[in-house]
Parts: sequence; structure tokens; C-alpha cells
Amino acid sequence: MRAIRRFTVRTVLPAELAALGELVHNLRWSWHPETMDLFAEVDPVLWERVGHDPVALLGAVGPDRLAELAADRRFRRRLADAADDLREYMTAPRWYQTLPDAARAIAYFSPEYGIAAALPQYSGGLGILAGDHLKAASDLGVPILAVGLLYRHGYFTQSLSPEGWQLEHYPSLDAGGLPLSLLKEPGGAPVKIRISLPDDRVLHAQVWMAQVGRVPLLLLDSDVAENDSAARDVTDRLYGGGTDHRLMQELLLGVGGVRAIRAFCRITGNPDPEVFHTNEGHAGFLGLERIRELTESRLSFDEALEAVRAGTVFTTHTPVPAGIDRFPVDMIARQFGGGNAWPTVPVERILELGAEADPGRFNMAVMGMRLAQRVNGVSELHGEVSRDMFKDLWPGFDVDEVPIGSITNGVHAPTWVGREFMELAGRELPSLLERARGWEGVQKISDAEIWEIRRELRGRLVEGARARLRQSWLDRGASPAELGWIDDVLDPEVLTIGFARRVPSYKRLTLMLSDPERLSELLLDPDKPVQILIAGKAHPADEGGKKLIQQIVKFADRADVRHRIVFLPDYDMALAQLLVQGCDVWLNNPLRPLEASGTSGMKSALNGGLNLSIRDGWWDEWYDGTNGWAIPTADGVTDPDRRDELEATALYDLIEHEVADRFYDRAADGLPRRWMEMVKHTLTSLGPKVLAGRMLRDYVVGLYTPAARAARALSADGYAPARAFADWRLKVTKEWPGVRVEHVEASGVGDTPEVGASLELRATITLGDLEPGDVLVEAAYGRVGPHDELIHPEYAELTAAGVDDDGRAHFTGVVPLGRTGAFGYTVRVVPHHPLVAARAELGLIAVPEEPVGMTNGTLR
Ligand SMILES: *Cc1c(COP(=O)(O)O)cnc(C)c1O
Repeated sequence: MRAIRRFTVRTVLPAELAALGELVHNLRWSWHPETMDLFAEVDPVLWERVGHDPVALLGAVGPDRLAELAADRRFRRRLADAADDLREYMTAPRWYQTLPDAARAIAYFSPEYGIAAALPQYSGGLGILAGDHLKAASDLGVPILAVGLLYRHGYFTQSLSPEGWQLEHYPSLDAGGLPLSLLKEPGGAPVKIRISLPDDRVLHAQVWMAQVGRVPLLLLDSDVAENDSAARDVTDRLYGGGTDHRLMQELLLGVGGVRAIRAFCRITGNPDPEVFHTNEGHAGFLGLERIRELTESRLSFDEALEAVRAGTVFTTHTPVPAGIDRFPVDMIARQFGGGNAWPTVPVERILELGAEADPGRFNMAVMGMRLAQRVNGVSELHGEVSRDMFKDLWPGFDVDEVPIGSITNGVHAPTWVGREFMELAGRELPSLLERARGWEGVQKISDAEIWEIRRELRGRLVEGARARLRQSWLDRGASPAELGWIDDVLDPEVLTIGFARRVPSYKRLTLMLSDPERLSELLLDPDKPVQILIAGKAHPADEGGKKLIQQIVKFADRADVRHRIVFLPDYDMALAQLLVQGCDVWLNNPLRPLEASGTSGMKSALNGGLNLSIRDGWWDEWYDGTNGWAIPTADGVTDPDRRDELEATALYDLIEHEVADRFYDRAADGLPRRWMEMVKHTLTSLGPKVLAGRMLRDYVVGLYTPAARAARALSADGYAPARAFADWRLKVTKEWPGVRVEHVEASGVGDTPEVGASLELRATITLGDLEPGDVLVEAAYGRVGPHDELIHPEYAELTAAGVDDDGRAHFTGVVPLGRTGAFGYTVRVVPHHPLVAARAELGLIAVPEEPVGMTNGTLR
């Protein structure tokens, strides 16, 4: 029989152990080994059995044991120390508290969060990144308030059928069994969020709170009695269901999320966020809700839009078109129009915000960009790819000027780095993992000490992998008697390569199988063998991905190689920790440039692993020739099979001739000196860059603080500046068709211009009803290509030199001829206002109709 409802009965802790409840309910334990040691001490056997989940531990431990601990003075003292340490962590001023002018609070929205294996509310990189973002924010004292959804079944757990086919299971989670508490009104009633739906339906939700160190995380949950059964199921699964289901989830996250924040701030007295950061398009409706709030307090739609944009940061996470979130336009029109429309927010304006090339589609990424003054990708290369991908939103501007920047992802060291390394770092390199300085100190640590830790971590991985492999075979129907061979699977002294990630096709799980015979030779090499550990989940609807997994599993099942290559089911944070800590080499072979950043290789690097990767995402930026290996990419080859074959061959060659050679090249004392040289260089060169703390500082300094300033500037004096700015934008947009570059004259050089000379430019501009102060007139100049196009031009501002009797404005300035060779220039006009953050922001530009100013000759 199956229960119709489940819940968890919580233990009542003896008064002496009350602090244990505090420790369990702050997820800081998940990156604080001393707190976990304390949990282990409650009942070491149980602790292992519950998979290091402290809520489950307290649910399972008997009253006798609790009474024993309550009477144990030593335990009580340790508990008191741990609780003091947590309180200190929660309140002491940190880096953020030293910043002048920074945002009072920042709201952070993400559809998934990877915080601990015990809170399975993530599917992959996006969620893990969000979790690391919160943890690093907590460590640095950044006042983030995070919002997400609580999925009753989380993401699926994976096992294999006897044939090696992925099977999915959706565990039933019960919020009472998770470290969560319900957000309640002061009177004790749970806060309820309501969102009206078409046909007079209402979506209700309650709000759970998790505490991630200093960062509160609000999770909306639609499984409440007020809802009809469809509405109850809105938060059933992460990325399950069809388009309608997804729209409901995104409404709840975006619109409901803002309402949850308002309730939380009202009840707790926390300051309302000045900045709203949306992680990918899924939470984009938050901008509409904020416009609704402002329009109900007397701003017009356009004024509210300006105020909202100024304080919004949008991060795009994928260059894969299928990864962009889109809805049928009708669906959006139904939700936000007709009888369900918000009176002050016209549905036509909403549809405009999400309009894209296909008139039938509403594009959440595009809306995200129109609702945010600041937009970024997640690595330099991804920024570049995104500028190209979205350039049509800013027509007339060169790709370089598309206002999408980048902040490269990072990872939270205390979550991902093996404890032995954390302790070594704590001893030898104080505070290195919090600050980005001091990494040179790694060079002073002996090879032997680092190698010893590497061996320990590899050994732990081998043990863990055997246990998981055994379980997997049992799940596939094998009997224990057939599994004796598993005791000898993998070898703690063999070069260990890891490959673990989700399984969308661009990540090419099976590239290594391109030539199975060559792969077997590498695995079975008598002198320099390698072993490979593989893990990854395919999206439940992705049959192609499941086929790839099956191919890998079938290969790894082969009796001749099964001791050297294994597929470990159910890739989650716990397995990721085991792998990134234990593997010597971290392999990544995406189809460039589709990996926006990638982070697992960063986790490996921080553990002294070496990256072996296609130059994509973060690795394109930080590979320096000697901190790992770059697999040559056959970017230009259009036949995909041919491209795979070329890249696979390059991969095999690298493993055979570079990686294995180096690993097995041992000095008289048994140490691989040349290997250790590379490990140390990896730690010193990548260590400071890959930290989530570095990433957070970049967000604070580059995006959050400027966004807070802009939001304040617009909201001052009862939003008077927002009104003025909206008026200005409307005026400029209306008058822009009349703005023309009539004429450009150059003087100052003769027929044979020489380098070092300068051109004096005089431009005549028609401005219609605009003033010279409304525009910025610039010369663009530099190298020209074969079709007279300027290549990465430089810009020089021209200054206003009066208006003539015909109402034409004159601008003058100087262009230096700083380089030899083909040189060109032109003049352009763009809108100018102190509250505009980027030249291209309004998408308005005027350039001469005829090309001007190509020097015919070549500069000498
Ligand atoms: C780090 C991590 C990811 C993301 O790794 P990528 O390199 O971006 O593929 C995905 N899943 C888990 C469980 C992780 O720990």
C-alpha cells in the first residue's frame, strides 16, 4: 500500500542540545567539516547510513542516545563552540561591509539551487553555480536574498537497467525532512502567495526558508490545500512537464518570487532589495511584477520600465539556441491579457518585451535583456558568443559594442576541495581560499606532501567507485556471487581520468569511444595504463542522451576493460565531490563554443587535478600552455563526424604521448616530478581565478553596485528622475529618424598622410528637435578591411561647435593617425544621457549615408 501523504516527525531535542537544531538548520554545515564532525559524533554509524544528511540523522537517532549526549560534558562543550562559531560567522563584518555605497540588499533568482546533496533541488551546472554563488556571498557578507522553487520530487535519481538504459526515479521529498522552515505572519499563519490565472483560477503557494550561511533562501511551494490538483503540481518536478507547466513554474518563480520577497522583508524587517539579479530567463517575469508594483503607485509603464531596468542584472547561461526559454505568444497573451490582465500593465507592452524574430514566440532571454540595464555571459568567450547571438537587439552597432559583458564563473572552495587540501592550505597559506592572494606559497610546499594527498584522494575515489559500481550491478539484477571482480576494479596507483557532466549532445559523452580499439589500448597499456570514471544524467526526455549513456555502459561492461573504465550512476554533488577530488585529470570535450563556462574543471584544478579540455568556456580564457592540456579543436570542419574523429584522435594522442608519459615519469624517490610541477603551476595560476569569491567580487563591483547606484538615481525624489528619463527616451526615440550626419570634412593632412599626423574633423549634423546635448558625436577610426569595414575601431568624441542659421549642429574633433597601413574613419551619432550605461543601450545610431573618409593610399 502507498501512503497518500507523508511527513516527517521531528525529534524533540533535550534542552542541552538545542544548539544542534540551530546548526542543522543552517546549511553552512555543508561546507564546514568541523560541524559535520560534530554530527558524525552524534552517531557515527547512523551518520554514514543517512548519507551525511543531518536532518535525517536527528530524525533517526534514538532518545537514549540523545540523553547520553545531553549528559556528556565534552560533547556539550564542543556543541557550544560550534554554535558560537556559527553565530560569529553570521554577524561579523566581512569584505562587503567595507564597501561604500554598495547595494543594501540584492535579490537573486534561480530556478534551481545545488547547495548540498541532501537538498536535491538542482539538475546541473546552473544550479550548482547558484549554490556556490550564495555560499560565496555568505562568506563575503554580500546581502543576497535568494529565491527559488521547492520541487517536491526534486530532480530524478538515476539507475541503470540490465541493458544499460537510464532509469529515472523521483524521490518524494517532504519539506519537514529538509532543513527548511515555513515563512509565517507574525500571528503564526503561513504566508500565502497568490497569482491569478486565466478563467478565474488562482495559483497559491507557501514559502519555505532555508538558511545558507548568512543568505536566506526562499523557496515557493504550490503543494497547498487551496490549490486545485493541477496547481498543486506546479512545483512537482524540476524541468518536468510541458510548456504550460513550465509557464506556471516561471510565473511562480518570477511574479511569486517578488511577492515572497516583499512578505519576507515586511515580516523580518530586512531591507527591500535595490538590485534584482536573474539567473537565465526563467525568472524573467520578476521584471513585470516590479513594473506592476510601480505602475500601481502612479508611474506610467515607461517610467516604471526605466526604474526597473536600472536595478536589474540579467545573466545569460547558454549559447545553445535550444537552451533559450520561449513560449507561444498566445500563452503569454492569455496569462497577461483579457480578463486576467493587470490594469496598469498593458499586455501589448509585455508582448513587445519578449518579441523575437519568430512572431509566434515569446522569448524569455530577449525579455530578460530588455528588462535589464546590465547583462552578462559567464566567460569571456561566452560574452563574445552572446554579443553575436543577440546583436540584432541593437541594430546598427558593431558586435563589439553590443552591451553584454561577461563575468567568468567560479566555484566555492570549501564545498569542493578535499579536506586534506583545505587543511594543508589553512596551515601553509593562511586565508588563501578566501582571498585571491598568496597562491605563490604553493610552490614552497613539498612535492611529496601534495602527492601524498593526491594519492589519498585517488584511493578514496577508488573505494567509493567500487561501492557504487557494486550497487549499480545489484540494481541491474546481478547476484552478489557474480560480483567478486568488483573488488579489483580500478587501481589506486593508476592515472585516473574523470569525465562527469550532464549529457546534452554538445558535451559529447561518447567522443572517447570514437575509436574503441585505440581507447582499449590506452586503458590496457602494460606500462602506462589509464583508468576512466564516467558519470552523468541525460534529461528524462532526451532519448539521444540515453543512447549515449548506453553506449558508454556497454563498452564499460566489456570483460576485457571493465576494470579500467566505469560508469557510475546518479551524478550528484556527493559523487561530484568524490570525482573532482580523486581524479588526476579532468576531461572535457564539448563542441566549441557551446560550453558557456563549465565549472567542474575548476573544482578539479583546486584539488590539484589537471585539465585536459577543448578550449571552450573558462578554459579558453585561462589555459596558459602549461597548466593542463588543450585538445585541439577542429572548429572550422563542417562535417560533424569528421570533426569528432579529428578531435578524438588528438585526444588519444595527447593522453598517450603527453599525459601518461608525464604521470609515469618517476624520480628515484617515486615522485612524478614533472607532473607535480604542472600541478603546482595549476594551483598557482588557476587557484585565485576559479574561486567563487573572485566571481562574487566581480559581480559586486562590476554589476551590483553600479546597478544599485543607477536604481537609486532613478528612484530619488519620488521617482522624478525616472519620469524625466522616460520622457527623454520617448523624445529621443521619436525624433531619431530626423537625426542625420549631413557632411564630414577632414583637414590637417595632405595627399600622403604620415603616421603621427592627425586629422581634424568637422561634422555637420541635423538633429531635428533634439539639442546637441542629447547626442554624442564620435569619430570611429582605425584599420579597414577589404570592404571598407572598420575593424575593432577606436572612438574619439567630437565637441559641439555651435548651431548654424539652418539649425544644423557642428561638431569638431581630432583623429590621430596612430598606425600605418590602410586606415579609415567615419562619424556616428548616438543618444547621450548620464543615466545611459552603454552607447548601444537605446539601440539608436546615425551614420553617414555615404561612406566617408577612406584614405585612398596607404599610410607610411
Ligand atoms: C559542478 C557540477 C556540474 C557542472 O559542471 P560542468 O563542468 O558545468 O558540466 C554539474 N553537476 C554537478 C553534480 C556538479 O557538481
